[in-house]
Amino acid sequence: MNIRNIAIIAHVDHGKTTLVDKILHHTNVFRANQETGELIMDNNDLEKERGITILSKNVSVEYKGVKINVIDTPGHADFGGEVERVLKMADGVILLVDAFEGPMPQTRFVLQKALQLKLKPIVVINKVDKANCRPDEVHDAVFELFFNLDATEEQLNFPTYYGSGKNGWFNDSVTQCEDITPLLDGILKHVPEPQIPEGNLQLQITSLDYSTFLGRIAVGRVARGSIKENQPISLVQTDGSIKKSRVRELYVFEALGKKKVTEVEAGDICAVVGLEDFNIGDTIADFDAPEALPVISVDEPTMNML
Ligand code: GDP
Repeated sequence: MNIRNIAIIAHVDHGKTTLVDKILHHTNVFRANQETGELIMDNNDLEKERGITILSKNVSVEYKGVKINVIDTPGHADFGGEVERVLKMADGVILLVDAFEGPMPQTRFVLQKALQLKLKPIVVINKVDKANCRPDEVHDAVFELFFNLDATEEQLNFPTYYGSGKNGWFNDSVTQCEDITPLLDGILKHVPEPQIPEGNLQLQITSLDYSTFLGRIAVGRVARGSIKENQPISLVQTDGSIKKSRVRELYVFEALGKKKVTEVEAGDICAVVGLEDFNIGDTIADFDAPEALPVISVDEPTMNML
């Protein structure tokens, strides 16, 4: 299936949760969930029942036949290597900014990482329903921030959407429209499809998950090749040592949970169950001819960089 991997960067309270919630509702996730037997729901089901999305996890939706993986970006407490790793799973980012507050220091660091990783952001100016909002000024402030962060010409040419997550619309001008369709179409248009190099399996473990039933779970993007249930693999650790292991179960993200599958192709993001002794940064690779992906630095920035 056609895929888009996107991360949302937002200062706390600028409306990330509300936006993702609208995306889930618009793509009928809540109805689809009731028909799907094999979803492992996250621990926050009650909140979801109330329509509040808890964004501690990736979510995935289908829109116009395209799978959109919305990758969670860690909060400010986890800044540093973690942000970089997470952004490496994305082919595009949405920079979500409050139409009154404008860009905040906390978003600056993540945006800088995204720009350095050559991602081309989509800017979304939210909360234009607020009486005292100033979307045009905020747009200019965002442009200035990009400029100060040494964005390339192409990155400076970012598409901008305006709207209100709360009222459920986003448009390419400050004119209210019916729903969030223009923004979803913008994601399909502006976020590139995953680039897939030739070669056998490579998946770098980007984050860890835990399930009471399945134990520790490795999460990452299949960069190359494909990964299969029961497949013997080599785990290349960050110090270069190699361990042999086996994939027991595989899950892709679907809606707010995970769906069990037998194979995941390059470009998609998945959760791998059954590996022993793995860590963030390790590469899951071909059993016979393992090749590691470059290790991502985990240096923590100092506060004055933020
Ligand atoms: P997050 O911290 O970025 O996930 O932000 P939330 O989605 O939780 O939103 C923070 C607050 O802003 C909540 O009270 C929301 O109801 C409110 N909010 C979100 N989107 C909008 C919007 O478009 N307009 C207005 N007026 N409030 C919004």
